[in-house]
Amino acid sequence: MSKLTLMAVFAHPDDEAFGTGGTLTKYAAEGHHVYLVTATRGEAGQILEPDLATSANLPYVREQELRCACQIYGIHPPRFLDYQDGQLTIVNQGQAVGRLVRIIRELRPQVLITFGLDGIYGHYDHIAVYRWATIAAELAADPDCFPEQLASVCQPHQVSKVYLRALPEAQVTSMADEEGKPAAVMMDGVPFYFVAWPEDEITCVIDVSDYVESKLRGIQCHATQVGRRSRFSDTPEEVMNEHWFQHEHFVLHHSNVGLPDGLETDLFAGLRE
Ligand SMILES: [Zn+2]
Repeated sequence: MSKLTLMAVFAHPDDEAFGTGGTLTKYAAEGHHVYLVTATRGEAGQILEPDLATSANLPYVREQELRCACQIYGIHPPRFLDYQDGQLTIVNQGQAVGRLVRIIRELRPQVLITFGLDGIYGHYDHIAVYRWATIAAELAADPDCFPEQLASVCQPHQVSKVYLRALPEAQVTSMADEEGKPAAVMMDGVPFYFVAWPEDEITCVIDVSDYVESKLRGIQCHATQVGRRSRFSDTPEEVMNEHWFQHEHFVLHHSNVGLPDGLETDLFAGLRE
């Protein structure tokens, strides 16, 4: 079997962990090239463990946390677009897309995964990354786009499939609290609710049950964000046995190798020899 290349594009260190950590681990374990591009170092994030970081060194600490996670997933070290956390909506879009096109032309992924327009919970940085990544995947193949990048090491490249990370309706329902209040992430005092995708819009489910230990350890690497005392450290067996932990969900956004008949179980479907 020839090696294929998977590239994930997210906004913050830890964005990869909860919904794609198992998928990244699985494809790396199968011997494929797996890369993660992260737009920021997550310096606007919280510090749940005050002894682990200060606001001054948080970007450095979160970079190390992501490096730790990538090592556990068995994927290449992370690449950063070097933007400011929380500021992605005011980044020059052409510049950001150009940076991603450059990386796509260098790494030459067959499959790219990123956020959907929902941004998982409407996070504006996530939505900006969705735009950049989907536009970059399209433009990377066009030699007239960013022609100054083209050289022997950097040629136009056609990404075959683009997938969006998605939370199925039933998963979002399962995340509600005991009173049935929908799950949300608080940002500047405002709740950002998790966005559910209708089940029939999910096109690909990856069974990561063989990789839940790496997924869990990857999550634990992001200690400033999840803390040392969380369900991921207190009841790891319970977490690893959960259906939603063992399955990761995607929506096919673009394909130039045809559309699947039914629900896919492999991001490389149609691409393997
Ligand atoms: Zn994020």
